[in-house]
Amino acid sequence: MFKKTRPIPLELVILRIMSDRKNLSDKEKLQLSNLEKGYEGEVMFDSLIQDLDTLVINDLLLEMGDTLFQIDTLIIFNERVYLIDVKYYEGEYCYDAGIFKTITGIERKDPMLQLNRCHSSLRQLLQKYGFNYPIDAFLVFVNPDFTLFQPTQNPQIILPTQVNSFIKKLNKKVSKLNDKHEKLADLLVTLHKTENPYVRLPAYSYEMLQKGMKCGACRSFAVSVSRTIITCESCGCEERVEAAVLRSVEELGILFPGIRITTNLVHDWCKVIASTKTIRRILKKNFKAIGKTKESYYE
Ligand SMILES: [Zn+2]
Repeated sequence: MFKKTRPIPLELVILRIMSDRKNLSDKEKLQLSNLEKGYEGEVMFDSLIQDLDTLVINDLLLEMGDTLFQIDTLIIFNERVYLIDVKYYEGEYCYDAGIFKTITGIERKDPMLQLNRCHSSLRQLLQKYGFNYPIDAFLVFVNPDFTLFQPTQNPQIILPTQVNSFIKKLNKKVSKLNDKHEKLADLLVTLHKTENPYVRLPAYSYEMLQKGMKCGACRSFAVSVSRTIITCESCGCEERVEAAVLRSVEELGILFPGIRITTNLVHDWCKVIASTKTIRRILKKNFKAIGKTKESYYE
């Protein structure tokens, strides 16, 4: 059972919107592709463990002392806690004497070092709150196109060909959870930090983004609008105008938190809706209007 599910990372949500509305720089393209892969790997792993009969907590950002640490997946079993870092690396890598590099010799951050630091911080945190469960930490590589050459096998590293048997073992573990396990799960979810200072959001402004309404299915801007329906000229998908406007308002809110949602702003952002009256009616129906003049905005 997932005690906490995995949200799409904010950086990824923003870069996806940006990629629709402007030309990304090479750096932004790379960042988007890395985030997509990382997220894909995590979602893939989530689906593999979704039937585990125990408590699973996804995507935690915790603090111990001055150290912030991130956990992809935490599984609480009866006697132990499993700390899992999911990687979606692709290609051939070598790992020897603490050096992790591609087969062509490009050195990468040592994922084991990261995992061990996380392990140590988590152990201290659990002890601080009186939980003395042993922790087993694993690095799980889920991309089938990943190979790792290492002089000796490390039981903490689960390679793509070992993932299924690893999951089978997890499924076989009997979990007789009690209140204490529930308390631990609740505590970790409460301690989770929602603001991540390490997140590097790309720079953008309202002016630089393409305005217009996108198809909800294929994200194309080629939509035609009738009184109540928008129709995508690329994929043929139809959507109610109201739903499409609300989707566009949601994007605005994600890109510009705290921005004042006014009729004129939404009209400019959606572009293809001819009448401000339609926009005003939709906003009035779905949000609370603040003020009654032309300057009124919606929350
Ligand atoms: Zn479409």
